[in-house]
Amino acid sequence: MRSYCIHAFGEPLVGDDRPIPEVSGTEVLIKVEAAGVCHSDLHLWDGGYDLGLGRKLSLKDRGVALPLTMGHETAGELVAVGPDAGGVDIGASYLVYPWIGCGECRSCRDGYENYCAKATYIGVHLHGGYAEYVRVPHPRYLLPIGDLDPAQVAPLACSGVTTYSALKKFGDQIAEHPVVVVGGGGLGQMCLQILRALGGKGAVVVDLDPVKREAALAAGALAAVDGGAPDVATLVMDAVGGPAHCVLDLVGSPQSAALGFDALAKGGTLVMVGLFGGNTPWSLPLIPIKAARILGSLVGNLEEMRELVALARAGRIQPIPVTRMPLDRANDALLALRNGLVVGRAVLCP
Ligand SMILES: [Zn+2]
Ligand SMILES: [Zn+2]
Repeated sequence: MRSYCIHAFGEPLVGDDRPIPEVSGTEVLIKVEAAGVCHSDLHLWDGGYDLGLGRKLSLKDRGVALPLTMGHETAGELVAVGPDAGGVDIGASYLVYPWIGCGECRSCRDGYENYCAKATYIGVHLHGGYAEYVRVPHPRYLLPIGDLDPAQVAPLACSGVTTYSALKKFGDQIAEHPVVVVGGGGLGQMCLQILRALGGKGAVVVDLDPVKREAALAAGALAAVDGGAPDVATLVMDAVGGPAHCVLDLVGSPQSAALGFDALAKGGTLVMVGLFGGNTPWSLPLIPIKAARILGSLVGNLEEMRELVALARAGRIQPIPVTRMPLDRANDALLALRNGLVVGRAVLCP
């Protein structure tokens, strides 16, 4: 089978021909119909994250072994099951939950495999969906999608469940207050859909790119603010109607974090998702003075993914725009994403 692999961090992916994986035990095999290309794939490709102050988080030191097939947003047809894998139907379409843990530690037993210290994420530690087939350790990680389009469902596995889990961290505040969403790309688009499905009041979207601001307004944002404006925090507060009680930072840069913090109301909540990199510009005394709640949110758990797929199957989340590309254009897709040229989501369709 064809697969696109990282052989060296920072180098173009290599198209390899490898045997179709065999399944044993509880393993199952998915014929990939769609593999979303995610921003975190860019970090994986680079081999790490910028921690600011000259430090870097190295994925090699975190157990990422090469060669690796990326792709953690995968949907397709179930074509083979191991002898101990039950409860799934060959020939049916599934979305793959990729944030797999050891299954034994406290986090895993509590249902938070995404927090497991011995994670075996698909497309990060295990070979992922930039390939014709992907092997999944257990059928519990397969979510039936019925006759939904795999290309439109695939992004739910990362950008979808990430925004879903992040928005849930605001609790019932979203019904009363607009959410300031910093970053209007794929996650921002997804956010608008999910916020509506959860009964949220709406979103004020901040982005540097006028095309993304237009897309946000077209998708129902209450307002769209130019992140490059010199008085951006004031513009955001004007759009919200005062300091913001809910801010979701999908970028994670010093600028976006500064904006999120500056616009935050006393007792407000800043949820941080983006992994752009750098260090925070906040004054420490302002954290207690604002009684700020600052939460990090990392993807989402299996239960949240089930809830989200249920919303999609009920038609309560409209598909976000996707750009379909053949598998052999994996490198082009990554470069387009890096250069900010993708509206919605790039999805590889082998
Ligand atoms: Zn675990
Ligand atoms: Zn991702």
